[in-house]
Amino acid sequence: MDVIEKIKRKVNGFEISTKITLGYSACFVILLAVINLAMWLGVMNALYSPAEKTIRYSMENVEKIFGELEKNYSAFNPNAFRGAMVAGVVLRVADDDGNVFIDTDENYPTIERFYAGLLVDPPIFADSEFEVAQLGSALVYCAKMDYTHENKTVTLYFFRTITSELILFDDLEKILFTLDIVGIIAALLVGLGISRRVLTPIKIMNSLAREIAFEKMGGRIPLGDADDELNKLAKTLNDMLDRLQGGINKQQQFVSDASHELRTPTAVIKGYIEALERYGMEDKELVNESIEAIRSEAQNMQDLLENLLFLSRADKHTQKLHKKTLDMDDIISDVMNKMKKVVETHEVKLIKNEPAQIYGDETTIRQMIRVFLDNAVKYTPAGGTISVTSAVKGKKISLSISDTGIGIAPENQKKIFERFVRIDSEDLVSEANGTGLGLSIAKWIADSHGIAIAVDSELGKGTTFTLTIPIKK
Ligand code: ATP
Ligand code: MG
Repeated sequence: MDVIEKIKRKVNGFEISTKITLGYSACFVILLAVINLAMWLGVMNALYSPAEKTIRYSMENVEKIFGELEKNYSAFNPNAFRGAMVAGVVLRVADDDGNVFIDTDENYPTIERFYAGLLVDPPIFADSEFEVAQLGSALVYCAKMDYTHENKTVTLYFFRTITSELILFDDLEKILFTLDIVGIIAALLVGLGISRRVLTPIKIMNSLAREIAFEKMGGRIPLGDADDELNKLAKTLNDMLDRLQGGINKQQQFVSDASHELRTPTAVIKGYIEALERYGMEDKELVNESIEAIRSEAQNMQDLLENLLFLSRADKHTQKLHKKTLDMDDIISDVMNKMKKVVETHEVKLIKNEPAQIYGDETTIRQMIRVFLDNAVKYTPAGGTISVTSAVKGKKISLSISDTGIGIAPENQKKIFERFVRIDSEDLVSEANGTGLGLSIAKWIADSHGIAIAVDSELGKGTTFTLTIPIKK
């Protein structure tokens, strides 16, 4: 039990190629053993069986002759015994004193020679009623039979050569054994070679996986031409690495963009504090300007941090949404009323607001509408108009927010939903500062509610964002 456990542990430590090779070499060895055994049994049977049969048959013939003799002893004719022998069987009859008086082949080895070569352990193929002797390079069978007449007993010896080519069989066995060993070694080597070759991609994958680290994601598994499982696995792993690398790159970009965005407000705040330190608090104008600037930059930083936190929660899937049935028209009119109160530079109009219910999270829905309204105000010069229309169209609400602002060039209309993307423009409204996160947040909120966003814009004329919102069933 202990030994088996040890072997198991040892085998488990082997490489797969070694395991495969060992496994099918073992099958090969078993197959060889079975073939050899079958061959050996066949040959031995072919040798022993005819010898046994011919002796038995000859003995039966002799028994018949004895039967005749019992009836009429005077008809005894030694030649009758010669005729009773099957070809190859030699008969010798000896009396009590060992004198041979019938011999069907005088050239055959003598009884004494046979017993001198008698095998104490006869081969397993030999029938136990027979005696076996090895005479030189020959194996010889012998069966005995006693015959008693008027208190006189004679012994009949039946001889038959099993094989005269023992040496040849020994040689054959050696050749076979050598061939087996060569075959097994060849199977081991070829098997090891093939399985190593087949499993090379796995080795490469392994060493590559070891090397890959957060900062070092460039490595890819080389792909072969074959359409096999290993190549498919390699391709899957490469695709996975591509996706991971894409994610990591985005993450790193995000961190670097966020740090970059924080730099400006901190630099401005620091600048004003240094100016106050240098010129003192006497200059009332400078003090007021500094306080205003610091307050505004602090507000920017706070906005940025809140946006970053929102996106970070969204990425981690921890941004909470408490969805319930909402009256969309109420939300729109409320947001618009608040908007009108703070915006004095632009005309803000709610053209149509058809009642409809949606299923969503109130806080983020309000936040999303505000992103579009803020942008409309921010990217429209003072005196422009912001108009909002909400109309029911079948099972959807079509909410459009239009402005008469600077517009967005067609090539930028997709980009603006990416994080930190801001479009540089000559005639950008001067106070338009921002971080480029508003629309990516709005997009995330829209996606979480099954809301589609469409942009229609012309440079210098204005922009309309249309949100298609599913109505609650
Ligand atoms: P904030 O994070 O403060 O919202 P932001 O307004 O610059 O910053 P987004 O709201 O994501 O960022 O908008 C991205 C960019 O898309 C803007 O910088 C602007 O160039 C462009 N944009 C968005 N809305 C409009 C609009 N109504 N008219 C013209 N350009 C717009
Ligand atoms: Mg914005």
